[in-house]
Amino acid sequence: MDTFGLVVIGSGPAGVSAARAWLEAGGSTPVLLVSADRDEPYERPPLSKEVLAGDTQPEGSPIDGKPLPNQVELRLGQPVSQVDTDARTVTVGGEQVGYGQLVLASGSRPRSLPSADADADVHLLRSLDDAQRLVAAAGHARTALVLGSGFIGCEAAASLARRGVTTTLVSPEKAPQVDRLGTHAADAISGWLTGLGVTLAMGTEVSSIRAPRQVHLSDGTTHEPDLLLVAVGVEPSSDYLDGTALQQHEGRVVADEHLHAAPGVWVAGDLARAMHAVAGRPIPVEHWGDALAMGEVAGANAAAAAAAGSSDKTESKEAWKPWDQVPGFWSTIGEHTLQYAAWGNGHDEEVVDERPGRFTVWYGQDGRLVGVLGYNAEDDYERGQALIEQGAELAEAARGDRPAEAAGESEDESEGGSGSDARDDAS
Ligand SMILES: Cc1cc2nc3c(=O)[nH]c(=O)nc-3n(C[C@H](O)[C@H](O)[C@H](O)COP(=O)(O)OP(=O)(O)OC[C@H]3O[C@@H](n4cnc5c(N)ncnc54)[C@H](O)[C@@H]3O)c2cc1C
Repeated sequence: MDTFGLVVIGSGPAGVSAARAWLEAGGSTPVLLVSADRDEPYERPPLSKEVLAGDTQPEGSPIDGKPLPNQVELRLGQPVSQVDTDARTVTVGGEQVGYGQLVLASGSRPRSLPSADADADVHLLRSLDDAQRLVAAAGHARTALVLGSGFIGCEAAASLARRGVTTTLVSPEKAPQVDRLGTHAADAISGWLTGLGVTLAMGTEVSSIRAPRQVHLSDGTTHEPDLLLVAVGVEPSSDYLDGTALQQHEGRVVADEHLHAAPGVWVAGDLARAMHAVAGRPIPVEHWGDALAMGEVAGANAAAAAAAGSSDKTESKEAWKPWDQVPGFWSTIGEHTLQYAAWGNGHDEEVVDERPGRFTVWYGQDGRLVGVLGYNAEDDYERGQALIEQGAELAEAARGDRPAEAAGESEDESEGGSGSDARDDAS
């Protein structure tokens, strides 16, 4: 049986950055990185944006523009089927491989709709492979229906419209993203989408999908688009962990603020339900930048544990890094990029600062700043991230360094927040 100092499961941003951080911290080589994905590690965010819009080829660009270090042995197209945390082995392609340290970074997969016929011609979007099929279908489509108004749904609808496909976006939400981002951002997103020619069918559920692409909606209408994309969120890819002693919550692997899940086992990215060192509570995240940051923490800590000759946290914890970055993401809908950082458990107040060509939404809960969203407002976004981390008051954040009079005006424009239990994902 081959044994590696580090085995990483998953070739997304969390897995790749974990492998890199391990090597940078002086971890042993080679590292084994095993992935269900068939393609060399690539950036996912462009797939729903410039790739689907037809601005760039669906070829996949390397994560952070860098190839994997030579010391990483990559096994692609080989899903891990089992993990034995007592024996410290993983099973891949029927073969057992031993590990000293293990990073779990198998991310998520798109949810499908149970009301769809099994043989319905439905697209999901997660992998490069998915994107290549979607782009090929879009090349022949005159009409498209996108189900789901999360970020992937909004981005994909905008991209399809930009390439000339007559697109309808369907969602039970009253407006795109309103449940998470509130009315101001939702209105802006609605305007961007309709400006591109997207028809919004909001407040509408899918009743059923009959093969090949007959979609019955709760408003009584039936659609038969040339292309059907389901973008209704994701679920953790964790089936292969069934039967392990690892603690899981709704399919995510529970970990402490060092991303330590069990002796010799670390978790990062979408798969994790990790304690956040600053928030002081577990925060599930589904964001590219957070997966990179978590991978870095997991890889460095795994190397520190290996160097200490033990993965027992009581012995080597001092040297471990905490996961302490405020979660957030960027999303580009057509030509418009939003930057959002938040703790992710909703808000009860919004303060909007609208200025020509830009806006900022400050989100509060019980008077504290819990989130910021900026459109062409990078300065506010960066300041907001720091203030969220500090636990600043909403009023202080919204006032900023603008004259008191202007701040007063914007507070007068405050909108009631959705108060929703906003999910912290980009999907
Ligand atoms: C189209 C698209 C656009 C997005 N745009 C943005 C954006 O603009 N901003 C943003 O913040 N976020 C965005 N996201 C979300 C972001 O991509 C994810 O949060 C991020 O990829 C999570 O990283 P990860 O490494 O945890 O998991 P993933 O990227 O999901 O990678 C998981 C890896 O594990 C592999 N795997 C799964 N099961 C197994 C197994 N059993 N054995 C071996 N390997 C396995 C998978 O094949 C994959 O390689 C986007 C997502 C998509 C799909």
